[in-house]
Amino acid sequence: MASPLLKEKANNIQTERQESLEKERLTENKEIARQAGETTKMSWTLNDFAIGRPLGKGRFGHVYLGKENASGYVVALKVLFKKELVRLNVPHQLRREVEIQYHLRHPNILRLYGYFHDAERVYIVLEYCQRGELYRILKERGRLNQEDTAKYIYQLSSALDFCHERNVIHRDIKPENVLIDKNGDLKLSDFGWAVQHDGSVKRATICGTLDYLPPEMLAQMPHTHKVDNWSVGILMFECLVGKAPFEVPTQSETIDRIKRCHFKLPDSMEAGAKELINKIIRIEPEERLSLKEVMAHPWLIQHYPKAASHHAIETVTK
Ligand code: ATP
Ligand code: MG
Repeated sequence: MASPLLKEKANNIQTERQESLEKERLTENKEIARQAGETTKMSWTLNDFAIGRPLGKGRFGHVYLGKENASGYVVALKVLFKKELVRLNVPHQLRREVEIQYHLRHPNILRLYGYFHDAERVYIVLEYCQRGELYRILKERGRLNQEDTAKYIYQLSSALDFCHERNVIHRDIKPENVLIDKNGDLKLSDFGWAVQHDGSVKRATICGTLDYLPPEMLAQMPHTHKVDNWSVGILMFECLVGKAPFEVPTQSETIDRIKRCHFKLPDSMEAGAKELINKIIRIEPEERLSLKEVMAHPWLIQHYPKAASHHAIETVTK
């Protein structure tokens, strides 16, 4: 058994580590606050925000428009009831979601600026996306043109490639989890199903929405980051066609079609788009195009020319 002295030393190290993590969090908060025009605030409480209209309702709470009083900086505030979180046994999942999202800094990943809590609630301070969910935009417009689709697929691939390079798999890509900001840029959100793995472990949890689930997850087989690539192909199809490729009236038929990878591309779809989708939606995960290949695909560059210059810059700086 460890001596009391050793134990105390271990405890001290742990406390120091916790203190240093907390310090890091506060410094980061301070940095965000500084960027937002505020220089002295170390951590937030509800009094620091003016709460505006509700933006939506999620599984565990509500999201409101918020404005940081000191800076006037507009954010989205996600408010979760602790009691509900405990009742649904999700505090651990929430902590993981917050940790993962907090550390991912990419122009197409929704920023999580910080969080705070009071006796009853947890508040998550998020980047505000004025145009809301891609799901709603798709519902309103029916489908998207090639230019918007190419841009969103490029930005989503770029965000996911960034996640994968950090061993994070999102695992829940769908139009509800993709937000659009005031400039029309895509922000990937909702890391509730995400995992951070050590590079070799293949996870086999069933999660995500049926229409976007890849065959290996349906079959409850081990899976890798390639599950996200599959969903990029599904999203591209849904944007261009207005419905997901395996969407049929019954769930059992959807499952059957996904397992056989049985889907039909409309004749009216441009050849380049067909080729790209066919190269992503593949039963065999290793056959699916890599996200870098998606970003450099001729159809994508044709309809989102910025992709070419971004790609060139990325290649040069690597
Ligand atoms: P679920 O897991 O069911 O998706 P959730 O708890 O993750 O729920 P969110 O999806 O994050 O909740 O938020 C609920 C709604 O609030 C969304 O549908 C969206 O319309 C709106 N919303 C969330 N975050 C933002 C944001 N950053 N900017 C603008 N609107 C947002
Ligand atoms: Mg959501």
